[in-house]
Amino acid sequence: MFLSAMRGIKEIMRPSEIITSLFSKLLLIILLTGFFINLLVAGFFIHVLHKTTREPYLRNVINYVNYLIEDMGAPPRLERAEEISREYLLHIAYEGPEHSWSTSKSAFQISTHRWRTIHEGKGVQVRRSRGRHLVSVNHKYGHFTFMLGRDFGIAAKDYSKVAVLILLLTILLCSAYFAIRFLLKPIKWLQEGVNQISKGNLDYSVPGGRSNELGRLAEAFNEMTGRIRDMLKEREQLLLDVSHELRTPLTRMKVALEFVPEGRAEKNIREDANEMEDMITAILEEARLRNAAGRIERREANLNKLLKDIVKGYVNRSPDLEVVVPDDDVLLEVEPELVKIALRNVLNNAFKYSESSGPPVKVVLNQKEEFTMLTVSDRGIGIPENDLPHIFEPFYRVDKSRSRRTGGYGIGLSICKTIMDAHKGQIEVESVPGKGTTMKMIFPNFS
Ligand code: ADP
Repeated sequence: MFLSAMRGIKEIMRPSEIITSLFSKLLLIILLTGFFINLLVAGFFIHVLHKTTREPYLRNVINYVNYLIEDMGAPPRLERAEEISREYLLHIAYEGPEHSWSTSKSAFQISTHRWRTIHEGKGVQVRRSRGRHLVSVNHKYGHFTFMLGRDFGIAAKDYSKVAVLILLLTILLCSAYFAIRFLLKPIKWLQEGVNQISKGNLDYSVPGGRSNELGRLAEAFNEMTGRIRDMLKEREQLLLDVSHELRTPLTRMKVALEFVPEGRAEKNIREDANEMEDMITAILEEARLRNAAGRIERREANLNKLLKDIVKGYVNRSPDLEVVVPDDDVLLEVEPELVKIALRNVLNNAFKYSESSGPPVKVVLNQKEEFTMLTVSDRGIGIPENDLPHIFEPFYRVDKSRSRRTGGYGIGLSICKTIMDAHKGQIEVESVPGKGTTMKMIFPNFS
């Protein structure tokens, strides 16, 4: 995750996310609504208006064809029929006692059509099939058939208008798509805000500026995180103040203990006082480091050398310590003292939670193009999966009895995280209970 973020790779939606996304659903609803509105309106006009206007329409059609028959003369002339055909976009066929003709032979090859009779009157029949209308008239001069329909559909010159229509529809759809995207943008911002807050970045604020409900939600979100931030700061300050205040009575108590005769009760009180003192020191130390990490002073350091210096302090520890470093110098802009504190905490844990007779703890340093990574792996007791997301929180201990035995207060890893954050880096953990733990400290090469 960190590496891809550093490469600036944008998060790409998976197909399943596209299907379940609110955005796709809204777009689908709009498209379906548009489709069904069109269907309903068209249905209404076809079934309701069509029924009421059909009768007068058919009477007009019949009058009109009678008028055309008269216009073609007696006996009807093909030349006039062809003129009418061109002018009024009709096909006309005539079967008379002496001769027959038609304005379009191919149009009247109609045997393949399944014609439906929609009107039958005196010598007149109106039929319909696949968008074509056929009017047959038995006249004293002979039998006339008029056909109006698809053949006179869209003329070649009109295809450009169809293309414009398709283009306009596409523009309309695209505009709807971008309008919805724009409207729903605050949801994406809020999603990112929730992610950042859950990662502990309480300083993150969601972009505002929208005056609608989502804009107000974003503002409320920012107010909420601000309040949480203030509350946490106050709580932290209280903890520090109490810790400071406790130091004096504790010192007085320890001095007073010097005058108490040695015994079981005295021993217990002394142990408790020492433990309280350690805890107070840990709290104040963490606060001091957090402050120091807030304004780190970077300078170029050779991590290769820094690691070798630290390792010297672990030579006589068991289990053994195995170190893998590159031959070349590993140069990085860091505050070396803080990196040493972080690395020591991770190393101390690796030893603390490993069997002394177990396999060695391993430290690996390597530098890639964009980041430098320090990996510490042990084959110790490991960390249960449920605890993994919390171990970098202050005072979080996996198992209190375990930590009490090993003397920790759950502060070490929280200090490491503070230090890594200050370097704009990251600390990650992988662990399998009973198998061991790997801690990765990742520093960006360019800060
Ligand atoms: P502590 O001082 O209690 O060790 P840390 O903040 O250093 O506190 O670690 C938090 C908790 O994470 C510890 O209580 C411990 O249970 C667990 N932990 C850390 N590192 C390891 C490790 N290498 N192996 C097993 N457990 C670990």
